Amino acid sequence: MSQEKALTTRAEDFSAWYNEVIARAELADYSPVRGCMVIRPNGYAIWEQMQRALDTMFKDTGHQNAYFPLFIPQSFLAREAEHVEGFAPETAVVTHGGGKELEEPLVVRPTSETIIYAMYAKWIQSYRDLPLLINQWANVVRWELRTRLFLRTTEFLWQEGHTAHATEAEAETETLMIMGLYRKFMEEWMAMPVLTGRKTDSERFAGALRTYACEALMQDNRALQAGTSHNLGQNFAKVFDVTFQTADGRLDHVWNTSWGVSTRLVGALIMTHSDDKGLVCPPRLAQWQVVIVPIYRTDEEQNVVMAAADQLVRDLRAEQIRVHLDARDGLKPGAKYYEWEARGVPLRLEIGPRDVAAGSVMLARRTGGKKESISLVGIGKRLQAEMDAMQAALLEAARERREAASLRGITKGEFIARMEGEGGFVYGGFCGDMACEAEIKEQTKATIRVLPDPEFRSAEAPTTCLWCGRPSVAEAVWAKAY
Ligand SMILES: [Zn+2]
Repeated sequence: MSQEKALTTRAEDFSAWYNEVIARAELADYSPVRGCMVIRPNGYAIWEQMQRALDTMFKDTGHQNAYFPLFIPQSFLAREAEHVEGFAPETAVVTHGGGKELEEPLVVRPTSETIIYAMYAKWIQSYRDLPLLINQWANVVRWELRTRLFLRTTEFLWQEGHTAHATEAEAETETLMIMGLYRKFMEEWMAMPVLTGRKTDSERFAGALRTYACEALMQDNRALQAGTSHNLGQNFAKVFDVTFQTADGRLDHVWNTSWGVSTRLVGALIMTHSDDKGLVCPPRLAQWQVVIVPIYRTDEEQNVVMAAADQLVRDLRAEQIRVHLDARDGLKPGAKYYEWEARGVPLRLEIGPRDVAAGSVMLARRTGGKKESISLVGIGKRLQAEMDAMQAALLEAARERREAASLRGITKGEFIARMEGEGGFVYGGFCGDMACEAEIKEQTKATIRVLPDPEFRSAEAPTTCLWCGRPSVAEAVWAKAY
C-alpha cells in the first residue's frame, strides 16, 4: 500500500472522518445486505478483547453463559404489551420455512427476554433455584432504515444478561452491580469516562420497571448510550408465569433483570480517542499493542536486524505483550508507520543495524511525543509502563474533554443555542413532566440522557425546570445523542 491521501479531519466533517477511520483501519465494511455490516478482522479483534474482559467480569460475579434460539414465536413478543409496542416496528419476521408457510411466524430476536423467561418458567420451582444468573453472547436484529457502521446496523453483536431473583431488592442490587461493572469496564479498559444514572420513563426499556444507563460524550459533543441495565420487576414473570415457592411455602413471581452492551462500543471507542491520523486504540483493547518495524538496506543488514527483531518478539510475548513484527519486504518503513498509525497500534518499535549494535530500539507512541531510543534490557517492563501511562492519559484526556463540554446553570435560551451549536452535556432541573420532555426533544433534538447518580450531580441541586421553570423534581443531563 502506498501513501494515501490524508483523512478528512474531525473539524471538517466528523461523520465523514468516522467512516474514513473505519475504512482506513479496516475495521468494518458495508455488506451486500442493506443495513448489515461486515466486521473485518481488525475490528473483530477489538470486539474479542472487549468480550474477553467483560466475560471474565461476568463470571467473576457469578454469571454463566448459555445460548437461546435466534427465532422467537411471534406470540411470545405479543404477550407483554409495552414490550411488543416497543419492538414491533423494528422486527424481522420469518413466515416461511422449508418451502412452506409456517403455522406461526417467527421473529428474529431483537432481544431475548420473552424466550428466556419462557424457559425460566420451566427451570425455576423453588427459592433454592434462585438467583439464576445467565448471560448470552449473541447477534440480534432490529430493522434499521438509517444505518452507521458499529453505531446502528440491522444486525449487531451483543451480550444480554438475564437474571431471576427472589426479591425486588435483590433484583435492584443486581441491576446496579452490573452498572458498576459496565462503568469499570468502560473506564478501565476503554479509557472512556461515562455518566451513570436512571432513564426517564419515556426513555426506559419497553417492559422495564427502571432502566439505568452509561452515557459517554463523543468528540463531536454528541452523547452515546454505551450500556443499559434494566430492573424488569415482575412484568415478564407474570406474563410467562415464572413462579417459585418461597422459603415459607408461598408461591411468588420472580424478579428479573436484563442488561447489555454491544458492538456499538467499538464505535464509541473510535469516536472517543481517534484523531486525524486514524484510529487510536487504548492499549488494553488493542489487537497488537506493539508493532516492530525492521529497517535495513542490504541483505547482511536484513539478517542482523531480523534476528534481533525475532528475538524481541519472543521476549515480549513471554511478558504477555501482544506484539506483531511487520516483516513485509518491499514496503518502505515510512509506509508501514503510516499504516500502523491509521490502525491505532499504541507503540511502535523501529529497529535498524545501529540500534542492534547499541542494544536498543527507537520507541514511537501513537499518541505523539518525541521518539526515543530505549534499551533492550528490561524492555518488557518499560513498554508495559508506557502502555499503563497511555491508558491513563487517554482516560484523563477524555474526561477533561467531556467536562469542558459540560454546562451547568444555563438559561433556556442558552440551552437552545448550545444544542443548535456545539452540543455537549447540559445539566439542569427537570419538572418530571413527560410533555415537557417531549417538547424539549421536538424543539432542540436533545433528550434526557440520564437522571444522574449522586456522584455526578451538581454541588447545588437545581430548583426549577430548565425548560418550563416549574419546580424541579430531579437534576437531568441533556444532550443530542447517537
Ligand atoms: Zn419542565
